[in-house]
Amino acid sequence: MSPAADRGEELSANLEVVRARIAAACVEAGRLPADVDLVVVTKYFPASDVRLLADLGVSDVGENKYQEGAAKAAECADLGLSWHFIGSIQSNKAAAVAAYADVVESVDRLKLVEPLSRGAQQAGRDVECLIQVSLDPEQTIGRGGAVAADVARLAEAIAQADGLVLRGLMGVAPLGLPAGPAFSRLAGEAEALRVEHPTATVVSAGMSGDLEEAVKYGATHVRIGSSVLGSRPRFQ
Ligand SMILES: *Cc1c(COP(=O)(O)O)cnc(C)c1O
Repeated sequence: MSPAADRGEELSANLEVVRARIAAACVEAGRLPADVDLVVVTKYFPASDVRLLADLGVSDVGENKYQEGAAKAAECADLGLSWHFIGSIQSNKAAAVAAYADVVESVDRLKLVEPLSRGAQQAGRDVECLIQVSLDPEQTIGRGGAVAADVARLAEAIAQADGLVLRGLMGVAPLGLPAGPAFSRLAGEAEALRVEHPTATVVSAGMSGDLEEAVKYGATHVRIGSSVLGSRPRFQ
């Protein structure tokens, strides 16, 4: 078999395992598998893998570096995929992110709203936004995100901004701590957000190691990298 065919087989088998894990977690949680969307995180892997994934029915892919994501999105423009930006955003890169990302999952501060809005409008498109909420214990330096007290103001700013559509929340479980309590907190934040913003129904939570916990606590999207693509190079 050619290397590309081998890689296609590998991705297909991995995807099958991940889809089965999501389905089993849904059964366990009394939810419908159709209510949990899979975003395959393709960071550090080539556009050729994105193409193979699209052939296998993947519709949503995630990237965390704006240049790498922009290049791959351009190379794969014919595939009609939805591109999710899931990495930390420098304010001077925010407009460039909004020029190609369909969903920006990592909006974590007010300062990003104006450049994201400008980038979306310049590109003549609507960009869906999730607020990344910090799930780290208070006073720790962790995996980024807005603190709970800032979410309402940030949500309002996104909701008011031209070219941006507030869709919900995203969270990353804290390193070295159980994911369940963190995802439970995220679910509470999401419920609070929906009081003012009833259409902001997305909860993006769960990665390769903790997707079951995420589904249990109501995730509508899981972001899966290594379980589909294999382990990434060490420097990330
Ligand atoms: C890399 C990454 C993922 C995917 O992680 P895996 O453990 O490889 O599944 C999910 N979410 C974010 C924010 C990431 O940076």
